[in-house]
Parts: sequence; structure tokens; C-alpha cells
Amino acid sequence: MHSHSRSRGGGRRRDEVERLKNFIAGEWVESRTSVYEQVVNPATRQVIAEVPLSTKEDVAAAVAAAEEGFKEWSRVPVPRRARVLFRYHDLLTRHQTELARLITTENGKNTTEAVGEVQRAIENVEFAAGAPSLMMGDSLSTIATDIEAVNYRYPLGVVAGITPFNFPMMVPCWMFPMAIALGNAFVLKPSEKTPLLAKTLAELLVEAGVPKGVLNIVYGAHDVVNGLIEHPAVRAISFVGSKPVGEYIYRRSGENLKRVQALTGAKNHILVLRDADLEEAARNVIASAFGSAGERCMACSVVAVEEAVADEFLDILVACAKEVAMGNGLDDGVFLGPVIREENLRRTVSYIEKGIAEGAKLLLDGRDRMDEQGYFIGPTIFDNVTPEMTIWKDEIFAPVLSVVRVANLKEAVEVANRSEFANGACIFTNNASAIRYFREHIDAGMLGINIGVPAPMAFFPFSGWKSSFYGTLHANGKDSVDFFTRKKVVTARYPVPDFAD
Ligand code: NAD
Repeated sequence: MHSHSRSRGGGRRRDEVERLKNFIAGEWVESRTSVYEQVVNPATRQVIAEVPLSTKEDVAAAVAAAEEGFKEWSRVPVPRRARVLFRYHDLLTRHQTELARLITTENGKNTTEAVGEVQRAIENVEFAAGAPSLMMGDSLSTIATDIEAVNYRYPLGVVAGITPFNFPMMVPCWMFPMAIALGNAFVLKPSEKTPLLAKTLAELLVEAGVPKGVLNIVYGAHDVVNGLIEHPAVRAISFVGSKPVGEYIYRRSGENLKRVQALTGAKNHILVLRDADLEEAARNVIASAFGSAGERCMACSVVAVEEAVADEFLDILVACAKEVAMGNGLDDGVFLGPVIREENLRRTVSYIEKGIAEGAKLLLDGRDRMDEQGYFIGPTIFDNVTPEMTIWKDEIFAPVLSVVRVANLKEAVEVANRSEFANGACIFTNNASAIRYFREHIDAGMLGINIGVPAPMAFFPFSGWKSSFYGTLHANGKDSVDFFTRKKVVTARYPVPDFAD
């Protein structure tokens, strides 16, 4: 078939790059598309692969394969399914270094963060391997004379996941290990910007013993998403990504009568109170705001600091930020990697310009550290930001931090609560009453107390509020068990014979 490439990354093409294939019914098959997008290492601008922007026909083939796979897989006893997950856990652990290297190469985050991502992903597999306990229903031996009721859990059938570029391993692992352990068949559409991890994840799952059709991968962008939303056999869609896309997917999936969870954008605030250990708070803010180049849905985007300590805190913060080592995440000692694409770099620069134009005070200008080699931009800190400013409102998703000066805790909470987003929020203080006030009054679903990135572990829900989440059941934790199962409640009468006869 004739095919051509179109580059959105503007990357330098190497002579021989891998052209990714979809994974359908246990086979790596070429997409029906003629349109491929370049996958670029953001630290070097080098093209590392080409990803197909697959078609709705590719989606239909994957869903058909998943329907077939589901028939047998859903009948495999739960402990046997769990054993596949145990083997998968073992394989992922053994390949940790290679997986982390792949994450850094396609996403840009540093090696320590990449190893951390692999670890967090493995924890999801660990949790999913508990399927026999997680899938248990409940029962009541007598609901009326001689009548009992039992609640059984069953998988849904074919379910799908649509994932973002910023956690190419962890976010898919929020979804398919649990869905599969519970007996569903899965179609994954990874981000077209970071599609390589999914391939290795599938290869290792096959090695762990999962039968064909249970996990399928269709690479691409909106056509694949629309194909999944519109396909009648897809029972549920799990989405993680930006707010506009999440809203679209939530609405369209509803129209198509599907179960859906959409985890979306964020604008996370860290509150620094006057009694906090300012050095410790600054270290945490740096890690949270500039780690993974600010491309985390739990990244700190705004610090609300009490005026009484603001100058002292900012001196420490800016000094620490200037020390941040920037470069290719594969190199030793590098903390800050590139943003994902040229387009993200340009967007970041335009936000910095907007912040200046709107009257914020630029304390540290990341544009000074831009670098031709990759999509690099240094840590950027604005002081005197107000909630009226665009840099306070929008999710920038880059290493740009806004500082709002507040009189007290009450004002800090009020400021944070004005955001349309409500993913995470943190406080640095040793005052128990302040911590309680914060917990009771802040609008956010994931809180950190003297911790900068309060991302819950696999067995707790990833529980964003407001515009950071659309749906009822969150990803992870027991919510994910409910999301990927349906229930059958059996009410049974057992007339009592006379056993004396
Ligand atoms: P994105 O919304 O651009 O892409 C996410 C997925 O949606 C990708 O698979 C992409 O191909 C697809 N997509 C993009 N545009 C589409 C369209 N027009 N129609 C249909 N599908 C489309 O997000 P991203 O840039 O990959 O990731 C960053 C975003 O993800 C940030 O907003 C971040 O906050 C969010 N995120 C949220 C969480 C969370 O738990 N709340 C976790 C990680 C990332």
C-alpha cells in the first residue's frame, strides 16, 4: 500500500526507523492507514519511530479480536487469570531498566523518574493480581424465610483505554492489568507521541501467557478514539488526558451509552504557611513543579505562600531552581528534561510572554536556557500572580510556576478553590489545626500534607474533582474493580424438605 509520512514533530529523521504495527488478535499487523506520524525523542529531536494514525476499520478489527478473546478469557477461572498477572509482574520487574530507558527516550523525563514510573506501573499489576479477592461479591444467607441473596461480579466484555503522552507506561497500567485480571478484553490506544512503551508492554504480557485477543493495541489519534466511542461492542472507555478531549470523550461516550471515566487536566496548588520548614517546602515545590518538565497531572503549578515568609521562601526557591540540571534524561545527574514537542515549547514561551504582559513579576526566565538540541526550556518562576491572570488559570503543562502571595491560610484556600481544576493540593505546615482546616475546605481530590506530589498508590482511587475528572468511578483502587465489572444478584428460595424422611 502506498504510504507517506507527515511530521508534526519537525524532527530529524534517521534513515531506518521502525514503523509501528497494531497488535490485533495476537499478531502485529500493519494499519490500513496511509498516514504516519513521526515519533521524536524530545531531547535530541531525532525520529525514533513512525506511528500509524489508524482508521476506524483498524478499530473494528481490534474490537472483533477482543470480542473473540473475551469469550474464552472470561471463562478462565479468576485465580488462573491472576497467575498471568503474577508472571507479568515478574517480567516487568526483570525488564525495569530497559522499560525506564524507553520512557526517557520517548518522553524525555529523567532516568530516576522513569524508573519510578515503571515501579508505579508494576504496583498496579501487583494490585490487579489480587483479582480473586477483589472480584468477590457479597451475600446474605437469609433475606426472608428460606430465601438468600448472592451478588456476583462479572466482567463487562470489551473495554478500551485512551492514554496521554506523559506517563506512557503507568497510565496504560492503570487500566489494562486490572481490566484483564477481572476477565475483560482490552483495546488500548496509546498516545501517538509516546507509543513505544505499549509495544513492549504487549510483548511481555504475551510472554506472561495471556491468550490472543485479550489485549489489542490500535495506534493513532482522533479517528481511533471516535471508532472506539462509536463501536457498539465497546462497553466502557477509560480516558486520561487533557480537559477538552476528556469532555469530548465523556459527552460522546454518553451519547453512545457507554460507561466512561475521564481523568483530565489540573492546576495544582501548594500552600506554604509561615511555620513551614521553608527549605523542605522549596525542595518539594521544585520537585513537583519542575519534575518531568512540569508535564504531570499532579505537578505543582501554583504556590500560595503567606506574605509573612514570601520573600524568604522565594529567595530559597529561586536559588534552588537555578541549580536545576537540565539535559537529556539518560545522562547522569540530569533533573529537568525537555517538554514533549516543539509545539509545547512554543506554547510555553507564549505563556511566559502572556504572564509578563499581564503584570506578573518574572523572577526566573526559562527562555534563557532554551537549547537547539531538544525541546528544552528552563525552570520559570513568576511572582505576584493573581487568579485573574491567564498563567494562573490555564494548565500550562511545562516547567512554569506561579506564586500567589496570600495573607493567611483562609485566603490561600479561597484562591486555590477558584480554579476550575481540582486534582491535587498540598500544604506545608506543622500546625495540626491548619492541616485540618485545609483538609476540610480545599476543593481537591488528592491532598498532600508536607508532601509535594500526593499521587495515590494503586490501591487508592486517583480521585480528581471538578474539571479534573468526569465520571463516577475513578481509576485505580476499588473504584477500578467496580468500573470494569458488572453485577448479578441472585435471589433464591430453597424450600426446606423434611430431611427426617
Ligand atoms: P491529550 O488530551 O492531548 O491526549 C490524550 C489522548 O487523547 C491521546 O491518546 C490523544 O491521541 C487523544 N486525543 C488528542 N486529541 C484528540 C481529539 N481531538 N479527539 C480525540 N482524541 C484525541 O493529552 P496529552 O497532551 O497526551 O496529555 C496531557 C494531559 O493529560 C494534561 O492535561 C494532563 O493533566 C492530563 N493527565 C491527566 C491525568 C489525571 O490523572 N487526571 C494523568 C495524566 C495526564
